This record gives sequence, structure tokens and C-alpha cells, in this order.
Amino acid sequence: MRPERLRVGGLAPFSTVDYPGHLSAVLFCQGCPWRCRYCHNPHLQPFTAGAITWPEVEAFLTKRRGLLDAVVFSGGEPTAQPALEAAIRAVLRLGFKVGLHTAGVYPGRLRRVLPLLSWVGLDIKAPFDGRYDAITRIPASWRAGMGALDEVLMAGVAYDLRTTIHPALLDAAAKEAIQTELFRRGARPARWQEFRAQGCVDAGLVH
Ligand code: SF4
Repeated sequence: MRPERLRVGGLAPFSTVDYPGHLSAVLFCQGCPWRCRYCHNPHLQPFTAGAITWPEVEAFLTKRRGLLDAVVFSGGEPTAQPALEAAIRAVLRLGFKVGLHTAGVYPGRLRRVLPLLSWVGLDIKAPFDGRYDAITRIPASWRAGMGALDEVLMAGVAYDLRTTIHPALLDAAAKEAIQTELFRRGARPARWQEFRAQGCVDAGLVH
């Protein structure tokens, strides 16, 4: 698989927050099979052609060598794309570190790219039970989330765990259940991030 096959829906040329402690560019991969109620990038969910070609990405990154520390693959869900590994390798050849944002949709694919990564930001949607599926709207998605966490922990890669909090989706008991489960699995606590209404198309959450 060649990096040219990666569907890139957008590119943020400069970020100080997407890879902690690093100046990074962010590639927003096109396509995600989950349908999280609070998704603020619903335009990245369909598996359509990307908005930016890989040669354009490489040309941009080549000019940023020495100015940026890292490139973060975000989404959408980057691991949904078979070309992700080739694209990561291409970025590494340019001399950047690579970070990954993932919801853990495909633990097996995540395992294959973990040795190439310097940092992973993994979403923990909810406690690993039906409350997970109520957010993603995909049956048994909690199993993927749990599997992805275990892959990250086994890989020994630097990571952050993030949970989006909306009071209609996660109450205090759910938050406690998340942290208890993470502790039990040997992970660090999840960081809460506030729900952002911008981009969210679920009127029940926005209002
Ligand atoms: S996993 Fe991420 S990109 Fe996919 S629907 Fe959920 S919030 Fe949106």
C-alpha cells in the first residue's frame, strides 16, 4: 500500500495542543465507521475522497522540516485506512516524530502501527459496557475500545487517555467507573475534555 492512497480530509499546519509538548502539523484522515453522538467532525465520517493529495501533504511537510517536531494523524479514524502505515513511514523518513489520535476502532490495525509511533491519544468513550455503544451508536464498540487500550499499554508507547464529558451521556457514576476500570487495567486516569457544541449535529446534545 502506498501513502498516496491515504485519504486526507484536512491539514492543520501548526498546533501546540494536538501532541503534548510538541509543535506539530495535524493530518485529518477521512472516514470513520463510528457515529459518536458528540462528534464535532461529522464531515470526516464518510469514506469519501480526501480534500488534499498525498503529494501536497509531502510538499508541505518538506518545507516544515526543522520547524515542526511532529506530525499527528487524526480524524476521522486514521486506523480505518489501510494506507496509514505507509503514510506514517513516509512521515518518519522526512524526519518527524509521529503521533496518533484514535478512538481504538481497530485494535489489530493499531497494534501494527504502534511500533512506529512516539505518542498516542486514545479516546475512552465510556465505561466498557453498553454505555460505550450508546455514545458510538455501534454495537459492541466497547470491546474495540478496551482492546485498543490493552494494545497501547502492551506497546509501552507514551499515551494520553481522553474522555469527552456531556452530562446527558456520562454521569458521575460513569466517570468513576471509567477511572476504576483504567486503574484496574494498569492505565493512567483519563483526562476529561468538555463537550464542544461546534460541529455537533445532535440537537439533543447541543441544546
Ligand atoms: S470515533 Fe471520532 S471521528 Fe469517529 S464518530 Fe466518534 S468522535 Fe467522530
